[in-house]
Amino acid sequence: MSDGIDSQYTGNHDDNPESQYNDGKGVRYHISLKPLPPPLKKGEKRRKNKKIDDINRTIYVHEEESLADLLEAAAQALGYGDKLLFKVVSKDLRASNFTLKWSISRTDFKNMQLTTTDHFDEMISEATQKGTPAVKLDFVEFEEVANEGDSDDEPSTSKKRKLTEEEELMAETISQLKAAYNCSDKTCTSPVCYLGNPNGEHVRMTPILLNTWASAKLVGIEGVDLEHPPPDKMFQPVEGADNIDDIALLARRRNQANQASKSATPTITINNDFAGLAQLLRPDHAIAPLAPTQLAPIPRIPSPVKPVQMPFAAFCLAANLHPDVATKLEILEIAGPHLLEFIENSVLDQYLSVGNRAALRYAESQWKKGLIGYGGQNALLINPHT
Ligand SMILES: [Zn+2]
Repeated sequence: MSDGIDSQYTGNHDDNPESQYNDGKGVRYHISLKPLPPPLKKGEKRRKNKKIDDINRTIYVHEEESLADLLEAAAQALGYGDKLLFKVVSKDLRASNFTLKWSISRTDFKNMQLTTTDHFDEMISEATQKGTPAVKLDFVEFEEVANEGDSDDEPSTSKKRKLTEEEELMAETISQLKAAYNCSDKTCTSPVCYLGNPNGEHVRMTPILLNTWASAKLVGIEGVDLEHPPPDKMFQPVEGADNIDDIALLARRRNQANQASKSATPTITINNDFAGLAQLLRPDHAIAPLAPTQLAPIPRIPSPVKPVQMPFAAFCLAANLHPDVATKLEILEIAGPHLLEFIENSVLDQYLSVGNRAALRYAESQWKKGLIGYGGQNALLINPHT
């Protein structure tokens, strides 16, 4: 029984009670992999009968574990953690670069196909008829099927050789991520999902997410590894979207959100009429000149999320800067606060006191955060201070 066994591995998730079999270790699997021959070097010819050694391992996996868990454990034990490409969808085992057969010694179950979870259930049920269940699993690796219709004559290895070392590392890291986050939830339409959020929601690992994660890991961003993505909210579920997998639904929601913000815009742009605002700001006019329906939608303490383009004078007013600031800088013809960052302090200091220049810079920083806008003026109007 011990021929060819060179390592042992026990796969069992913590939530299973101890296995009833093999001293609590689970079902014993003798796994064997017939690997693909290594890629040929230029000018080299494949010798027909050149023998490539099979890889043999023995693992124990708890009888309650799923097919995907078994394959994951087997792949790891074989040193093929990221190289056996598969996904269990509904009841199907979809393997893109290997075939799998199972046998139980001293029974009629020899070289049985393993392509569905029903096959797997049958295998477990037959194996556990015995006091010490043992199964032989035979993996045969084959060239990954790329896209249907791809020509076999074009060896994929020739493409791979053109990759730079960096690209290879990226590709390798991405396939590690894909293997680690392979989604076997049959209700989920995404092949690869990250579930690292409080509710375990499926965040679809799009190529962008995979690339971001892999490059963050490769450049050595602190705390980023195969288990920990970069601290970016793109790895968290979209708030309010309870089913991230439904892209159409998501798109609709985004659309609605956009529509909502578009329809909200006109109520804000009322105030783009600056003559009107100046009027508004005059204490004797107060709120009167605008019809209540026009004022109503303006939030009481608005804080625009983005900086709003506005004329410089209006900005000074909204920021409640000293009147000198606007008048003394008039000669510079600054169109709006968005240009302030391009003007050196030394220039401003020719016109402003240090205190006023500092106040202007502070206002600029507030404006960039979206804290100063037209809404701010209304806020001043509604709640005048000093
Ligand atoms: Zn998923």
